[in-house]
Amino acid sequence: MQEYDVIVVGAGNAALSAAISAHENGAKHVLVLEKAPRDMRGGNTHWAGAVLRIAFDEPRELEPLLPGIEEQYESFYEGITPYTRKDYLDDLMRVTSGRTDPTLSRILVDNSKDTVFWMHEVGGVKMEPAITIAGVKKGNMVVWPRGLVVRAVHEGVGLSRTWFAAAAKRGIEVRYASAATELLLDDRGRICGTKVRGPHGLEAIHAKAVVLGCGGFEANVQMRTQHIGPLVGAAKVRGTPFNQGDGLRMAIAIGAMPWGQWSGCHATPISADWGDFAPREYTDRSNRLSYVYGLMINRKGRRFVDEGEDQNLYTYAKFGRAILAETGAKGYQLFDSKVLHLLEPRYSTSKPIVAGSLKELLAELDIDDKEQALRTVEEFNAAPRVGKVFDPTKKDGYATRGLAIDKTNWAVKLDSPPYFAYSVTGGITFTFGGLKINENAQVIGTDWRPLPGLFTCGEMVGGLFYDNYPAGTGLVSGATFGRIAGRNAAKLAQACD
Ligand SMILES: Cc1cc2nc3c(=O)[nH]c(=O)nc-3n(C[C@H](O)[C@H](O)[C@H](O)COP(=O)(O)OP(=O)(O)OC[C@H]3O[C@@H](n4cnc5c(N)ncnc54)[C@H](O)[C@@H]3O)c2cc1C
Repeated sequence: MQEYDVIVVGAGNAALSAAISAHENGAKHVLVLEKAPRDMRGGNTHWAGAVLRIAFDEPRELEPLLPGIEEQYESFYEGITPYTRKDYLDDLMRVTSGRTDPTLSRILVDNSKDTVFWMHEVGGVKMEPAITIAGVKKGNMVVWPRGLVVRAVHEGVGLSRTWFAAAAKRGIEVRYASAATELLLDDRGRICGTKVRGPHGLEAIHAKAVVLGCGGFEANVQMRTQHIGPLVGAAKVRGTPFNQGDGLRMAIAIGAMPWGQWSGCHATPISADWGDFAPREYTDRSNRLSYVYGLMINRKGRRFVDEGEDQNLYTYAKFGRAILAETGAKGYQLFDSKVLHLLEPRYSTSKPIVAGSLKELLAELDIDDKEQALRTVEEFNAAPRVGKVFDPTKKDGYATRGLAIDKTNWAVKLDSPPYFAYSVTGGITFTFGGLKINENAQVIGTDWRPLPGLFTCGEMVGGLFYDNYPAGTGLVSGATFGRIAGRNAAKLAQACD
């Protein structure tokens, strides 16, 4: 009977971090099981924009990740504000209304920079400034949002490809079209392998430790409907169709404790023109996140969120869900021509509706109450403003007063024709519900004790995110806990020798 030191289930960022970390820490025989066939490999990681949120005290701490960057960007480091561990933790606390797990969020934040350096140095992941998603031009300089400067070169596609290359270089075996279906237990109740449904049928594969890194349940309509609700049940899926909650169900079946917000998910405004699953070649380009510079209306012609509540990378993960709660789960984003240059390049993947007047524009939209829509925009334009001037590089406080829902930043009027409308719906990215783990990434059972031999990481970790999520945290969390899981799985395997 062939036995591995460590089996890693999944082949996204978290799982491959775990596999490489296990190997780096002495596990000789590591097996990666990937449910997807080779041409669909890599999970949501392939789809990601691959922006990485990192805590640092001085902007120049990022220099090793971005060699020679000052030749490409004028005064590059002057456009970056320090983002301390406290800032990062405060952001996590703020967007989750104080509910993020204190132990896990501390581990994530404290390790964020070291993890990204490890991805770079050990994984060989090349980095670049996240210019199309995060930076805003001010004169000749780019101003970066706090903590969000760096991404993997070629985004998720590049990140995923690099992880597979790093695994291959270490001789880590990857089996494609091979889904783990069940966790195996020995006589003493220790996890000793998995059942696998592969190209040639079912087999049992044994190992001294198993790391689950096989994603959440975002692609599983039954689990979405059951745990999050019918509205999210009907959402379009932004990433891989293979994350069906298998790992969560397998672990819970042997006594793992569900943890975190099972009724919560990351869902963003995406183009309503896309199909039920985002095409792999367009990765994250369905996103429509420039609503901060315009208005969002529903089918009743009304606004339903404060588009300027915060910078978009702190609100996008909950506004997708807000759209799903509106009639028909659909809306429109409206802009005028003076802000058009501020829209993310991703908007170019769909064609806007364009008209010379607001009335003509709204007449073209698939909404039920066009007269109300016109009143909504006219009332917004007529509302008194407080604050000084529109400034897209920061929360500018340029706000309306007296509307049912005020726009509290970037409240520029829609008064410069032509006008533009982009359709939006909510697309689910990943689910927040997961398993309880300890600081060693060991899975905790419903008896509050670790399940011996079982580790988890990535989207399967419960407790970090509630209701909302600060952009760029998923991949850093995945690599942080993947690295910890791999290291501890390797230690356990060596202890069994
Ligand atoms: C469009 C989009 C854009 C994003 N942009 C960003 C971003 O810019 N920054 C950021 O930090 N995060 C981003 N995210 C989130 C990020 O992609 C995820 O947090 C991260 O990829 C999760 O990593 P993971 O390894 O846990 O899961 P995944 O990468 O989804 O990997 C799960 C793996 O498990 C496999 N699998 C599933 N079931 C089984 C089974 N039974 N047996 C074997 N294998 C199985 C899957 O095929 C896959 O390989 C984005 C996500 C999407 C969809």
